[in-house]
Amino acid sequence: MIGQLQIFLHEHNQLVRMFKTTLDTMHSDDHKIIIRADKRPSGSLERQFNAPTINEVAVVIFGENVASRDIVLKRRDGGQLQRVYETHRSYDTLQYPLMFCRGEDGYHLNIKMVNPMTGEETNKNVSSMNFYAYRLMIRQDVDNHLLRYRRLFQQYCVDMYVEVETERLNFIRFNQSKLRSDEYIHLRDAIATEGDAANIGRLTILPATHIGSPRHMHEYAQDAMTYVRNYGRLDLFITFTCNPKWPEITNQLLTGQTPSDRHDITARVFKQKIVVLMNYIVKQKVFGAIRCWMYSVEWQKRGLAHAHILLWMFDKVRPDHIDSIISVEIPDPETDPELHSVVTTNMIHGPCGTQNPGSPCMQNGNCIKRFPRPFVADTISGIDGYPLYRRRSPDDNGRSIIMKVKGKDVVVDNRWIVPYLTMGYVAMFGIADPNANDEVMKFQLGRYVSCNEAIWRLFSFTIHERHPTVVHLAVHLENGQRVYFTEANAAQRAERPPATTNFF
Ligand SMILES: [Zn+2]
Repeated sequence: MIGQLQIFLHEHNQLVRMFKTTLDTMHSDDHKIIIRADKRPSGSLERQFNAPTINEVAVVIFGENVASRDIVLKRRDGGQLQRVYETHRSYDTLQYPLMFCRGEDGYHLNIKMVNPMTGEETNKNVSSMNFYAYRLMIRQDVDNHLLRYRRLFQQYCVDMYVEVETERLNFIRFNQSKLRSDEYIHLRDAIATEGDAANIGRLTILPATHIGSPRHMHEYAQDAMTYVRNYGRLDLFITFTCNPKWPEITNQLLTGQTPSDRHDITARVFKQKIVVLMNYIVKQKVFGAIRCWMYSVEWQKRGLAHAHILLWMFDKVRPDHIDSIISVEIPDPETDPELHSVVTTNMIHGPCGTQNPGSPCMQNGNCIKRFPRPFVADTISGIDGYPLYRRRSPDDNGRSIIMKVKGKDVVVDNRWIVPYLTMGYVAMFGIADPNANDEVMKFQLGRYVSCNEAIWRLFSFTIHERHPTVVHLAVHLENGQRVYFTEANAAQRAERPPATTNFF
């Protein structure tokens, strides 16, 4: 099989063919072969399937300059290994040789956007996110072979999203050597005392505009507090979880695929469902009129997306209303068979405890999620704002079902039901601090991107939405406003304090 693949690649992979011809024509050893990172702008409509031309692979003599992203091939002479940049157009085909077995181009920096109306090239560059979102699209009557690679497809998506993020972070990092920020008063003092602009300002700042960065998340938390300050405690905290068994997802799968092979579909369906759910809540007012709302989409490691939705109502939820919004009981299979089936398949915890001591929630013989919960005859609104929901016992008309646990029948009653429509914990974890001055490095260390998140972000779906808008006011001490300056214009910036937001 390896032999067959080799023959195939030799016949069809343009890179392999070019190496061979180029090597055959060179007789001495004092040369390098360069695969150009960017195609020379040609102005024609050639894209990923263009025929090989000689200037894609260049041969240069030792000592000649090559662009930093080019791939340099040398005769085996004990030279060092060379890193292939993700932004090299051959990165995709070299990393995934069988996915792109003809040596097709991946993203490179010189692809121009095309005006869809006229088909003419514009002077805007295609970003790597645009490029890979385009590649992942499902098209009518076109078989997109990328969507058929299952686990490899997952790896490809994560890899390409990391490329997108690296591109953005590199922009931040490389432009900060020029662009610096500090509070105005510090700049003025520094110019006055040292007169040297080279050492002022923090080294590398990861700004709040980078989605998902610590500053960005901190702003969300602050914005949520603004709602709390104005409207009091929130009324409903809803966790909305993506269910891979939704028919909207399974109906779109190709033969032999499972939902985890197609995170592009799960991401799209989940996105659409959030929009519908928020409409249902906000516009159709199923729980009553909503004063303000926000939601954030998160991913657990290896997992599917879930959204945390926070709702503030005009009329606060009263204790006698709670039972109609939140339940921790098995619903009536006669009156609502659909809800009954959803709850009994998705909203039962465990069972753990003595019936199933190997359950992942068990630690030192106890369930860390505190199941089974005690029976409660009627909902009690707690003093701390967390009510105890009604969980009726079988003697008190509570329902129960029979479940199979490790091949044995187990009776599950209302003590095992997870609250549906409410549930509230958010986990955060910190990482070590390698370089206090490099926030970009801190952000990248320990960053984990799941395939679902990668696709979500490649499709540029939002990870946070809210209403009403929160406007950030630049509150600061006198002369404490932030100024942006470069080494060259620092002295000039320090002369006069910049204008500030006037809101008093
Ligand atoms: Zn448990």
